[in-house]
Amino acid sequence: MPKILVTGGAGYIGSHTVHQLRAQDFEVIVADDLSNGHAASVPSEILHVCSLFDRAQLTSLMQTEQVDAVIHFAAFIAVGESTREPEKYFHNNTAGSISLFAAMADAGVNKLVFSSTAAVYGNPTEIPIPETAAINAVNPYGESKVMVEKVLDWLDATRGLRAIRLRYFNACGANNAAGLGERHDPETHLIPLILRAVRTGKPVTLFGDDYPTPDGTCVRDYVHVDDLASAHIAAVNHLLNGGASNVFNAGTGQGFSVKEVVTAVEKITGQSVPYIMGPRRDGDPAQLVADSSKLRQTLGWQPKFDTLESIIESAWVFEKQNLT
Ligand code: UDP
Repeated sequence: MPKILVTGGAGYIGSHTVHQLRAQDFEVIVADDLSNGHAASVPSEILHVCSLFDRAQLTSLMQTEQVDAVIHFAAFIAVGESTREPEKYFHNNTAGSISLFAAMADAGVNKLVFSSTAAVYGNPTEIPIPETAAINAVNPYGESKVMVEKVLDWLDATRGLRAIRLRYFNACGANNAAGLGERHDPETHLIPLILRAVRTGKPVTLFGDDYPTPDGTCVRDYVHVDDLASAHIAAVNHLLNGGASNVFNAGTGQGFSVKEVVTAVEKITGQSVPYIMGPRRDGDPAQLVADSSKLRQTLGWQPKFDTLESIIESAWVFEKQNLT
């Protein structure tokens, strides 16, 4: 079976993808600096603690292990933090990725699946958003990914690096059978924060109800992390079969407002959500909903979790099992 190097494999989406790759008999090794990831989320025998900036170590790892393709998750992900510390995002996400790509060139590995984001679209002019929509990031996190996407275009043209860029919408949910779920510290994402508010009774702050949306709160496309994992596997298979570079949105195509998420959580948990309505958060577009028809048609992707309730249910089971 092909051998895949997964960077950031101890993180949230990375660990779910590693689990699914191994279940499908891929050979997998993980490179993670454990700045945010959890060593316990991956089998210790496949974990290599390594920085994206250690080009020599990455090159030697890929050569020794005879890696066929790389899935690159390792990145900082908090939009709010990126507006306060932009250098941190351009350094780690952009420069760190370039260091990895240089190591891939040194090791002769020319297949890559890259974690991009719906944040590349900024405030989209059409909903649902096709991949052809204007690229116009409105926060440093999104821009750090736009830059990498541009670098990948050049590396395709100049070095023959074949890359699939997956622009994720809002990853959420858990794989409870595998003991995996969302464990960010600090947590900044809506669904785990709402579930935590239910469990602890401490209110969550909702960021603004004066957006131009039906109920005034932001609309997002919530996609289960295991469905994102399966999109990565479809993407890596496409490359291993000689497929060309491409870009795909990864979302369900359904949008839910922050208030609709609150209502769904109340339905699943049977408890009311304590919340405070606060001001807008910097850098938040009003609506982000994927047109994911290209991913479905080209790679045959089909999300298994097709209701918001089923996604929240999996996150709620995880939240109750992992009390901190
Ligand atoms: N959100 C919120 N309160 C929070 C965290 C998030 O109201 O404590 C809102 C946020 O403004 C956005 C949506 O929930 O409209 C999803 O935000 P999240 O940070 O989960 O993901 P993002 O869309 O930034 O990738």
